[in-house]
Amino acid sequence: MAHIVIIGGGVAAGKAAETLRKEQYDGDVTIVAAEPHPPYQRPPLSKGYLQGSEGLDAAILHPAPWYAEHDIELRLGTEVTRLDPGAHRIEMGSDELAYDAVLLATGASPRRLPIEGHDLDGVHTLRRLDDSDALAEQLRGGGKRLVLIGSGWIGMEVAATARTLGNEVTVLERDPVPLAAAVGPRMGEVFRRLHEENGVDLRPNVNVERIVGRDRAEGVMVDGQTVPADLVLVGVGAVPNTALAEAAGLTLENGILTEASLRTSAPDVYAAGDVANAYHPVIQRHLRSEHWDNALKGGAVAARVMMGGDAVHDGIPYFYTDQFDLGMELSGYPPLMKDAEMLIRGDLEAREFIAFWVQDGRVVGGMNVNVWDVQKPIKALIRSGERVDAGALVDTDTPLDSILR
Ligand SMILES: Cc1cc2nc3c(=O)[nH]c(=O)nc-3n(C[C@H](O)[C@H](O)[C@H](O)COP(=O)(O)OP(=O)(O)OC[C@H]3O[C@@H](n4cnc5c(N)ncnc54)[C@H](O)[C@@H]3O)c2cc1C
Repeated sequence: MAHIVIIGGGVAAGKAAETLRKEQYDGDVTIVAAEPHPPYQRPPLSKGYLQGSEGLDAAILHPAPWYAEHDIELRLGTEVTRLDPGAHRIEMGSDELAYDAVLLATGASPRRLPIEGHDLDGVHTLRRLDDSDALAEQLRGGGKRLVLIGSGWIGMEVAATARTLGNEVTVLERDPVPLAAAVGPRMGEVFRRLHEENGVDLRPNVNVERIVGRDRAEGVMVDGQTVPADLVLVGVGAVPNTALAEAAGLTLENGILTEASLRTSAPDVYAAGDVANAYHPVIQRHLRSEHWDNALKGGAVAARVMMGGDAVHDGIPYFYTDQFDLGMELSGYPPLMKDAEMLIRGDLEAREFIAFWVQDGRVVGGMNVNVWDVQKPIKALIRSGERVDAGALVDTDTPLDSILR
């Protein structure tokens, strides 16, 4: 009987296994995951789970018994140490497994900051459930001084959660505004105001030199001055977990390079989620997306292809965040959004608006802030690739779904 092996324990792995069974795959399925938990999703780890308003069930895709009920073998707390595409075999230390198809859903790991003091006690990164638990233990009681290095999505979400829990929060950032790399300076400014209004101390344009402390972190040195800290969170991005793929000789380029079908350069080896740099057939270039929705959809596509179907991973990248009273969804192609013009529909000051990224008259990205149920028409505008009337886009009296003729 055919055997599909899935390496990883995130949403891409869990969704791939779920899809195999949903689509009546009747061969053997094994998930091998390094972490001790059944596959789980990470967005709650910086939001409700960290805050304590959501439990483990908000993160876990399915409880462990679900896998047994669906005849999926779960090998948790087990790291795959070698992939041998020639022999169609993986190794886990001295143990091994043969496969007919294998999915690499190994995700990404926090980027390390190579500065003095990065390994002191009290210096955190956030990727795993256990990381969130460790942070929660410090932050839940309030009254701590948290210093964040980096103002990306994870940093800003934790800033909001920590502040809501009654902690003092300082964010140290190289750029002039938070999230500039993700959404550009104008939208970054929206987040800057939001955080400042909620008492977060944002320090832009600074150069972090080192983390100071004798036995544990006591502060962060920036431009010759120490910002005191009870704990430090380093949130400076993530790097794809490509070690297995690299040792196996797969083609790598900013992650594991795949076709739109998520096939890698090795026969019967597939990749999905944060680790995959997949060819996107619509924009005709490779795209590596570090978002939940990409992992969810990629896991499902890989499952269908491994079963012998001919699916492609061609969705529009989608992301969401919640910070204080701001909820946001964003769809778009980051490489095309970089140089696009921005148009605003709604009230920017009141933080109730849609921002469109428009290139050559075509919508290439759309972000709704505290405006809901608009992702469908936003995606339709992007997907159409049609030139649209800028006046209609920004006119709140023109329904979004009437703009495409
Ligand atoms: C705190 C946090 C908050 C986030 N919030 C959002 C959000 O609000 N919205 C959004 O869109 N995205 C968010 N993301 C991003 C999203 O969680 C990721 O895109 C998603 O987790 C990617 O899923 P994945 O399955 O590809 O990889 P991962 O979730 O990283 O899972 C990979 C798993 O593979 C395991 N693994 C790696 N190597 C091996 C090996 N050799 N053997 C066995 N197992 C191995 C790892 O231990 C890990 O458990 C957030 C991420 C974090 C960390």
